[in-house]
Amino acid sequence: AKESGKNNCQFYTSEMNAGLEEKLALTEGLRKALEEQQLFLAYQPKIDLHSGSMFGVEALLRWQHPQRGLVSPAQFIPLAEENGLIIQIGEWVLREACRQARAWQDAGLPPLSVSVNVSARQFDDPRLVERVAAALAASGLDACWLELELTETMVMRNVQQSIAKMRELEAMGIALSIDDFGTGYSSLAALKSFPISRLKIDQSFVRDLCGSADDQAITCAIISLSHQLDMKVIAEGVETEQQRRFLHANGCDEVQGYLFSCPVPASEIAEMLEPVQ
Ligand code: C2E
Ligand code: CA
Ligand code: CA
Ligand code: CA
Repeated sequence: AKESGKNNCQFYTSEMNAGLEEKLALTEGLRKALEEQQLFLAYQPKIDLHSGSMFGVEALLRWQHPQRGLVSPAQFIPLAEENGLIIQIGEWVLREACRQARAWQDAGLPPLSVSVNVSARQFDDPRLVERVAAALAASGLDACWLELELTETMVMRNVQQSIAKMRELEAMGIALSIDDFGTGYSSLAALKSFPISRLKIDQSFVRDLCGSADDQAITCAIISLSHQLDMKVIAEGVETEQQRRFLHANGCDEVQGYLFSCPVPASEIAEMLEPVQ
């Protein structure tokens, strides 16, 4: 009931428990989606809690299906992971996000950092670094404006290999963050040796932040851990003013959520920004 007021941010209500036939149909559709340009990116503002201003955006993939309407990434990303299409899709996302970030700059808007979600299979791709470099080169975007969101699980599977890959990306000037922090398992020793610039507190801890002493304790622990490790910390899924206030009072640096904005088309991000004088 609490979320019902925020339903304008939700985009689909189709049943999540897709049967095999349903899955095959979606897989087939996804192959076409890339060719027929049914994919697009929505951008969600990231807000600096101290200044209250937008400093960046997260690129979130959307699929405009010709019959079904908008299909949720929670439904098709796992499928794309399974059948390998995520490599091509992920490359498209990277290129499109870099192109868009550069286009905003070329339009005279103050530069924004753009973060892109990386899936496990993409992170394992031996050509990841090369693909990222190519996307930056093709767009003309300076690497310092690109951030990649990784998850704990994907970087903790093979710590040495992850460190090597992350160092290569960091050396290019790209920022790295750990998404959904607290939901996977992290070795704190490994975390310390990763070149990570921010931790993202998972929305499951933010959801009941004001009613759950446990979630408050976890949130404060993540904030403190981030700062001890010289990282910034961002909370996602912030929907209420009370949540914002708690996070601000407890030293969280940045926030993202429906309280500030849903993920929106690129044109709406441009409207939120004032041109540089
Ligand atoms: P995520 O990376 O954790 O992204 C945050 C999700 O929370 C997004 O869902 C976003 O729309 C939603 N969200 C933002 N603010 C709020 C809020 O205040 N309240 C609530 N309840 N939700 C909020 P979305 O766009 O449906 O994406 C779901 C997941 O799909 C993402 O979770 C990410 O894991 C994956 N995904 C999306 N785009 C991409 C992509 O380009 N590549 C990859 N590999 N994964 C993607
Ligand atoms: Ca994310
Ligand atoms: Ca997340
Ligand atoms: Ca998530």
